[in-house]
Amino acid sequence: MRDNFGREITYLRLSVTELCNLRCRYCMPEDGVCKKSHADMLTEDEMVTAAKAAAALGITKIRITGGEPLVKRNILSICERISDIEGINELCLTTNGTLLKEFAVPLKKAGVSRLNISLDTLDPEKFAHITRRDGFEAAAEGIRAAVEAGFEKIKINAVLIGGFNDDEIVSLAELTRKYPVDVRFIELMPMYDSGDFKQDAYLPVDAVIEELGSMEKLPGNGGVADLYRLPGALGNIGLISAVSNHFCGSCNRIRLTADGKIKPCLHSDVEFSVKGLDFEGMKAQMETAILGKPACHDPLSAKERSHAGRNMNQIGG
Ligand code: SAM
Ligand code: SF4
Repeated sequence: MRDNFGREITYLRLSVTELCNLRCRYCMPEDGVCKKSHADMLTEDEMVTAAKAAAALGITKIRITGGEPLVKRNILSICERISDIEGINELCLTTNGTLLKEFAVPLKKAGVSRLNISLDTLDPEKFAHITRRDGFEAAAEGIRAAVEAGFEKIKINAVLIGGFNDDEIVSLAELTRKYPVDVRFIELMPMYDSGDFKQDAYLPVDAVIEELGSMEKLPGNGGVADLYRLPGALGNIGLISAVSNHFCGSCNRIRLTADGKIKPCLHSDVEFSVKGLDFEGMKAQMETAILGKPACHDPLSAKERSHAGRNMNQIGG
């Protein structure tokens, strides 16, 4: 369905858990999340009902996210049931990759066709610093397992952080020449509790264009990403200017959090609960949420933090 600004809403990001086996500094606090009561979180049946309600409103693509979706005990069953819903043509999943060695093949069998894998650095020590956990080897093995499993599309997502990985723009981009993957650079968003980044950590994606002089700009767009390609590469480079040049005008998505709140806008704390509702109740709430989408979110910068009211692990990115 269309929102009040004529935007066709076709994409739902469904967060299945707030929990994670990493602690990325830009995403969640070191001591993790205080585990909410089980009763406050959506059940598997509620997630499936919500996905059906979304499909009835014209959603065709669902991305499973988290927290880390692969720490969720029943993740394969959730994927399988959602991929069977009529009208859902695309089931994607975003993961930190550390559990993909075990899950790549089962996820594909469960109907996931596309994977986004988050990886901010190719240096194991820097990985341990930014995620506050050792896990580089597991993530690298996970990416290899995903490539071997033959997903339709694999995108590696790197959050661009000045003073941390701006010296790795070339080596991360080179992955598109070695493997059949896209690499996307995402501007660091100033979330609620990710306050330990200094102003110079907030680099615009133009820094990538400057660094990778030989890139060719591709026509059209890759959703929220501007697409480029290195000569001879197997995959594309995507630039996501979430802060320096927002894409609210073409926003086609809503989000559903693991505790059952529909967020019409990532950077707003306006939320609509579907917890405990049946199909019709959920559909009505989603309709209200879609019609409640603002034209645009408030400006973001190193000094102007997101008004999301939650950290990213409680939203899903
Ligand atoms: N755990 C999974 C992962 O890391 O891919 C899925 C959830 S994570 C919240 C989804 C995406 O949000 C990841 O690509 C992560 O890098 C991104 N993200 C988290 N906090 C962010 C921030 N402050 N700015 C930009 N991207 C962020
Ligand atoms: Fe976990 Fe993903 Fe957040 Fe990192 S970005 S802490 S992997 S949810």
